[in-house]
Formats: sequence, C-alpha cells, structure tokens
Amino acid sequence: MRTHLCGELRAEHAGTRVTLCGWVGKRREHGEHLSFVDLRDYSGIVQCVVDGSVDVRSEWVLRVEGTVRRRPEGTDNPELPTGEVEMADCSVEVLSEAEPPPFPVDDRAEVDESVRLRYRYVDLRRPRMQHNLRLRGRVLAAMRAAMVRQGFCEVETPLLWTPTPEGAREFAVPSRLTRGKFYVLPQSPQIAKQLLMVGGMDRYFQIARCLRDEDLRADRQFEFTQLDIEASFVTERDVHEAVTAAVVDATEAAVGEPPSAIESMTWHQALDRFGVDKPDLRFGMELVDIGEVFAGTGVRALAAPCVKAVRVPEGADLGRNRLDSLVERAKELGAKGLAWFKVTSHAPPALTSPLDKVLSDAERSGLVSRTGAVAGDLVLVVADEWRTACEVLGQIRLDLGRLPVGQGERRFLWVTEFPLFDGTDEHGNPQAAHHPFTMPHPDDLDLLDSDPMRVRSQAYDLVLNGWELGSGSIRIHREDIQRRVFDALGIPPAEAEARFGFLLGAYRYGAPPHGGFAVGVDRLVAILSGEESLREVIAYPKTQSGTDPMTGAPKALADSALRELGLRITPPGG
Ligand code: ASP
Repeated sequence: MRTHLCGELRAEHAGTRVTLCGWVGKRREHGEHLSFVDLRDYSGIVQCVVDGSVDVRSEWVLRVEGTVRRRPEGTDNPELPTGEVEMADCSVEVLSEAEPPPFPVDDRAEVDESVRLRYRYVDLRRPRMQHNLRLRGRVLAAMRAAMVRQGFCEVETPLLWTPTPEGAREFAVPSRLTRGKFYVLPQSPQIAKQLLMVGGMDRYFQIARCLRDEDLRADRQFEFTQLDIEASFVTERDVHEAVTAAVVDATEAAVGEPPSAIESMTWHQALDRFGVDKPDLRFGMELVDIGEVFAGTGVRALAAPCVKAVRVPEGADLGRNRLDSLVERAKELGAKGLAWFKVTSHAPPALTSPLDKVLSDAERSGLVSRTGAVAGDLVLVVADEWRTACEVLGQIRLDLGRLPVGQGERRFLWVTEFPLFDGTDEHGNPQAAHHPFTMPHPDDLDLLDSDPMRVRSQAYDLVLNGWELGSGSIRIHREDIQRRVFDALGIPPAEAEARFGFLLGAYRYGAPPHGGFAVGVDRLVAILSGEESLREVIAYPKTQSGTDPMTGAPKALADSALRELGLRITPPGG
C-alpha cells in the first residue's frame, strides 16, 4: 500500500512521487485553500500540503500519494528529521475515520495512567511507547540470538503446571475435567528446566512468562518475562558467562553501545561496602569501617561491635531539620541512632556535631582521615551490629545519592555467595534465600547441621544500577545433600515427596550437575529505556489494583461456566 515510511523522507527524495500511510497528527489551516496535515507512522512524521477542502481530522487513517519537495526557504523545521521536506500535490484516500482521540497522541501531554491503559491502542501510538516496545523487541531478539549462538536450545515449558518453590502466592486454574482439582500457573519454569537437564537437554533457554499473584507495584506485575536459562556440567562461572553475553548483547542492541565490563563481588562484600545486596555502582559514597577509630571509645553512642560511616560530599550545608529527619530515618530502619559530623576543616580536623565535644583528638582525626572527608563534607555514622550498621547506612546512602533510572552509566554487577538461608518462618525454621534446590557452598557443607544461618550458597544475582535483574544458582543434584537442606528447612520427607516428589524421583535416574539463571526482562528493558515503571515497557500491563482498564479483566464468569467448573462463588465475607 505504500512506497515509503513517513519518517524516512529527506531532501534527497525531493522530486520523487511517493505513497505513504499513517495517522493524522496535527492539521493546520494555511490560507484559504490549503492545510498542512502531519502524517504519522511509527517511523516519524511528515508534513503534507493538502487541499483545504479535503476533510481529514485527528487520528484518521490515510493513504497519501504526493511528490516530495524541499520546503520553501525559511520554513524548515529543525525539530523534525523530515523537517527539510514536505509532500505536495497530495491525493488523499481516507482508510479509516476516527473519533477524536481521548488524549493527544504525542509525548507532551501528561495523561492519567488509567485513561492511557483504557485506550492502550491509542497510547501505543505515542513515540514513547513505540520507542519502548521496539527497544524491548530488540532486547528479546538479541538475547535469543546470544543464547542460540552459545549452543542453548529453546524449549517451551507448560503454563498449566503445579506449585513451584519460589515462595510467592500462585494463580490457580480450575480443572474442568477433574473437578475440584487445580493447575497452578508457574512462578517460573524452575522445576521444569531442572527436569530438562535430567532429560539430557544440556543447555536450555526460554523467554518465559512467569506468574505470581502478589501485590503490584511500579516494579512488579502479575505476569513478567524472564530469559530463563539452565545448563548441565557447568560451574558458576560458565553460567555467568552465558548470561553476561546475553545482557551485553541486549544492551548494545537497545542503546547502541555495550556496557562497561561487569564486576563481581560477594554478598558479604556488597553488604559491607554498600549496605545492600544490590549495590548501585553509579555513585560512590561507599561505607567505611571506622571501628578501629572507636575501639575502646568512651562515647557511648559510638561503642558497638561495628561502626560504619558514609561520607556525603558537600553535605555540610544540610540544615538541622534535614539532619533530624535522617536520624529519624535511621531509627525507622532499625538503628539505635545516627551520628552526624559536619567537617569544617580537615587539616587540622575540626567538626561540628553534638558529639564533637566528647570525641578525643585521635577519634576526631581518625574519623576524618579514615573517611577521607574534606571541609564542607558531612559524615554519617551508625554504630551497631554489623548487618544493621551496613543496611541502615546503605539505605541512607541510596536516599541521598541515588540517581534517577535514566542517568549515569549502566553498571552491571554479579553478586555471589549469597547466604543459603535468610530469616526464619513462623516455626523458627530457616527459609531458603533463593529456593530449596540451591547448592550450598562446598566449604560450608559442614555447617548445614551445626550453624545453618552461616552457610553460604552457590547462588548469585545480577544487578544493574541498584536493581536486582535476576537470580540463579548451581543446583543440588545429589539426594543426600538435598535431604540435608530439606531437613534444615524443616521440610519432612513426606512433605518433600508430596511437593517435589516428581523432581526427586527424576534424580534417582541420573541427574547431571547443573545450574542456571533467570534475567528479568521487563526490568532490564525499563532501565535501558530510562523508565521507572515496568508498565511503560509492557504492551498491556495491569494497574496497581490488578485490573486491565481496557478489557475490564478480571470479570465475573457466567453461571453456566462456573457450573461446568464445579465452582460456586461465596459472597464477600461468606
Ligand atoms: N527460578 C529462579 C527465579 O525465578 C531463577 C533460577 O534460579 O534460575 O528467580
């Protein structure tokens, strides 16, 4: 139907007769007989000079045949890539008329999100959504190509599945043929992909949809997409390399340049240096251990097993209210307090702080020299248990220094050696930090029974600019180790058999050592597009309350459909 795209016309096309298709953007009357019509398709906009009598309106769909010509001297539009040319001698065919759009189809208007989602098909025409979805398409294509190139085979796993061990609430699907029974939508293909390894697939990947019935936030949707990977006979490093290739290629495909080399640090180092397990490396303000300076101190507020500091460059001009609110914030986060020191001079060291008068000279100069603070800086200190001190200052570091999502470099990071267990459940049993099939660190196997909370695992995360992009691990493939981990988790053999019997059963038939990973594609695309909200990079997302304003989902089912499924809906509270 067309010879060119609207956005590709340039001065070199002048004199060419072309046919374009697209939507009417703006229409401006020009004199008595002519109007300028902006014709838009996904590639851009071009101005068409149309007879004033032709009735075309906003968002009508047209096919326009015309001759490209240079715009008259002085009327170029430098804002438009096509701004040197226009279409003249136009004949216009109306392919579809349209009602006035619910909002202007450009990026300038601030439109209520529920209205955008209700008319998503109009919203998708806006340049921002076109950009984001096309970037997403390039990311998916690059990831797929990178996996195929590395010898991975794409395998689709079922959506109608059975509970998986990721720990989130699951969506259930009633079975019509077996009344009273349910399928579960997979939280991830975790068990299915491990079974593929037992099945000899060796290197699997899938661009997999995962479903979790959890409360929604800007960075969470019921359904999300993962680049899901599993491989046999691999070390942790092999898995990292395969994933790294995919995300490096994806980044290049999205933004035109690869990211800088991907660093790696252990979970302990991440907590110690940045106070979080997903450090944002785009800015400094690393946590500094100043325990030595205050060993044996007489200052009660600074006497603790761990004393950590953060230097806030040029933070000395923070006012008293702001400092008070930082102290409050530290307390909310679980610290007993937060000490602050404004550095008025570094040589000789001089501080302004409620605690200054009780510091010894050695403490004052130690604080300044250990943190590298200079006049005009602020130093914040938390004295507490190691983990509390790190986590509280880590959060305050983010509050004060974190850049918006689209700014700064792209700093990927591997975080390794996560603890095997994290926290305890209501019965006091340790909980799996990743999932119960994660292999403990070989050096810590002996601690499994004696001190489980200290066991490190072979689980790792990939982090980008402070966001967790995904997780993975080397899996347990030996029944005896799996048994000990279930014991530590307080999962009795009968329960393990009932929940994961089909996986454990498969292991009796020869399980290769294996490991894998899953990259959160929505989040990666959001960061690469500079978007805070995942909804900006998903074609048809749900709102925060889990609804789709366009389709009206979720909806009631007809009584006949419910009967067929053997379901009866009780009234709320019934
Ligand atoms: N299934 C895990 C997840 O969704 C990823 C993995 O361990 O491969 O986080």
